[in-house]
Amino acid sequence: MSTQTAVSAQNIVKTYGAGASAVRALDDVSIAINKGEFFTLLGPSGCGKTTLLRCIAGFETPTEGTILLSGRDITHIPPNERPVNTVFQSYALFPHLTVAQNVGFGLQMLGKPKSEVNATVERVLALVRLEQFAARLPQQLSGGQQQRVALARALAPQPEVLLLDEPLSALDLKLRKEMQSELKRLQTETGITFVFVTHDQEEALTMSDRIGVMSKGKLLQVGTPHDIYERPVNRFVADFIGETNFLDAVIEADGARLGSGDRIALPSQDRSGKATIAVRPEHIRIVGADQPGAFHATVADKTYFGTDTQYQLALSDGTALVARLQSGGGKGYDKGSAVGVSIDAATVQVLDA
Ligand code: ATP
Repeated sequence: MSTQTAVSAQNIVKTYGAGASAVRALDDVSIAINKGEFFTLLGPSGCGKTTLLRCIAGFETPTEGTILLSGRDITHIPPNERPVNTVFQSYALFPHLTVAQNVGFGLQMLGKPKSEVNATVERVLALVRLEQFAARLPQQLSGGQQQRVALARALAPQPEVLLLDEPLSALDLKLRKEMQSELKRLQTETGITFVFVTHDQEEALTMSDRIGVMSKGKLLQVGTPHDIYERPVNRFVADFIGETNFLDAVIEADGARLGSGDRIALPSQDRSGKATIAVRPEHIRIVGADQPGAFHATVADKTYFGTDTQYQLALSDGTALVARLQSGGGKGYDKGSAVGVSIDAATVQVLDA
């Protein structure tokens, strides 16, 4: 294992309950999270992401497998002895303590000298830009400010790894956006490894250095936001992240033949026979109906979104296709018009049928 690995989970299985009612929440998950990285566990509700986070925090013990922190086996070490801290969705601040007292509470419990506690509180409150609010009580703060206090409190003991379990989901959309960039800034400034859990794909794409996509207790893909979006390994990942067209195809020597008979020229493939072609709406180009090589299509519907316009297209056999184009200055293509469709092979993913 590289010394640059902050958290390594090896073959983690977590089963809740026993017998027929047993739930396999984590099914042989292995992952290596790098030091100083903003890593996001992304997946739908119930996929096991919180369970994995809780195993790293020490609130759960894996049924099988090992968790290493900077190379040290911490699988059976209690949570308070791990150099790890967690920020939860509910920030649970002490209502009768001031902001500064809330942030310093954990350090005081650890028996740190008062001068050190004060200096740390001042430093972390500056980090989350709440220096002016040190003497306030939690109820005198907005939801976003309270969440920042919770963050400051978690950062105060200088954890090696900060675990964040859907920390923004209680905030309204505008605050959530603000806190997304705030979190990203905090992570960059402190250099602390962040492991962030969310079911929100946009949040994951915009904030993370790398994302691990989970489904049904399994880790399906780990990669940069660009990898995950442009090179999904299977239909679940392609479908969960962003919008995608899935087209039935048959892989032949010279490319993918669609149901309409149209052919997308592809570099030679390892596979042949039935497959699914995944292509993002923004990668579909609409061209003149008579352009050589273009597929014949009809505009079935269009929706204007301001900066871009979404076209529902139908290929010659009725296969539906969604294209998303920058609106530009022109009026675009009218509903009912005949157009040409061109798909660049480099933007196509060939997946199992
Ligand atoms: P969410 O986004 O809804 O929190 P999640 O991806 O974080 O979902 P987990 O909370 O890790 O999912 O749960 C994974 C599976 O394990 C689910 O089927 C859940 O019902 C089950 N589970 C979680 N905790 C327990 C528990 N303490 N006892 C029994 N089953 C549990």
